[in-house]
Amino acid sequence: MKLNKFRNLFRIYGKTIFANAKPAWAASPPTKKGKYRRIATEEAFATPALVAESKIALRSGNVEPGFAKMGKLIYGESLAAKIIDSKLLDIGESRLKRMDADGIDFALLSLTSPGVQIFEASKAIAIASESNDLLVEAVRRWPHRFAGLAAVAPQAPNEAAQEIARAKKLGLKGVIINSHTQGEYLDLPKFAPILEAAQDLDMPIYLHPREPGPNWVGPYLDHGLYFATWGFAAETSLHAMRLIMSGTFDRFPKLRVVLGHMGEGIPFWLERIDNRYKGQVVVGANSALELLPSEYFRRNFVITTSGMTDNPSLRLAIDVLGVDRIQFASDYPYENAGDGVRALENAKISDEERVAIFETNAMKYWGLDLDLGPVI
Ligand code: MN
Repeated sequence: MKLNKFRNLFRIYGKTIFANAKPAWAASPPTKKGKYRRIATEEAFATPALVAESKIALRSGNVEPGFAKMGKLIYGESLAAKIIDSKLLDIGESRLKRMDADGIDFALLSLTSPGVQIFEASKAIAIASESNDLLVEAVRRWPHRFAGLAAVAPQAPNEAAQEIARAKKLGLKGVIINSHTQGEYLDLPKFAPILEAAQDLDMPIYLHPREPGPNWVGPYLDHGLYFATWGFAAETSLHAMRLIMSGTFDRFPKLRVVLGHMGEGIPFWLERIDNRYKGQVVVGANSALELLPSEYFRRNFVITTSGMTDNPSLRLAIDVLGVDRIQFASDYPYENAGDGVRALENAKISDEERVAIFETNAMKYWGLDLDLGPVI
């Protein structure tokens, strides 16, 4: 007990001086086993306006209960928050140096969670649009290192659809949406303009985690469960399952959705989801889906590794989805990007699978072919 308290004193930015034992690969350098680029696809940044407004919201206390806790990680007063802040705000030289040190060639950047989704609509629209302009500037300056996903304000669906069209013209590759928007999910009819724009313009939606919505966060507020240990995956997998079970992909069959964290648990459950969907009459369930739940998952979704470094979950995802549906992501700056790289370099998978996950799947999926420099 005393030792734990002592450890906590030294806990800085997720690392402890008395760190738990790490697997053997964690000590190895991020050496490549061939010639390929490492493309990381869930890499967060922030803008000064987002940070300033989020701090004001957090201090006001007039925020969703999940964000009141989660927001302190980035927008609170702690040293850890200040370090995260400074990493998020940098989409220039220092980030590139960090990427070099971690062994990451190319980053698909996106505005950090929950982004603008906690604000009232007009503020959210303005911050999202300015953030997209700043992102485009960074991408134009370092086209061989960065691409980006557009931030939108789902609380204003028509304006969000327009912003997706603007972002497409500016060369951004997709859209980031941080799960629920003030307790509402994208399967609701009001969000159809967003899904329509994303489908018609072929802009994938990266459905990124955040804490559970205000309407069900209660039990997650205890024991830190609202956070990335469990609540983020519970929230984001709920959102993905709402899209599937509501028939959203019958309405938008070409909509492409990305889930991080090895699919937020869904690959593990996929067979059972089908089994129960087929085998049981559930009051209130949609029994008229054109496909099985797993068929939508394998058709409309891809997943990224973001922050998952264990071999069994990677193996399961490859077996269940096929290697073509998996991309590498480091989840910088919330995770140790070097650990993510080393984990995949040392994963017990074939070299072909490794190259697909690090490089070729992302290049094809996001249309990065023309933007990247030579393989180093
Ligand atoms: Mn993330």
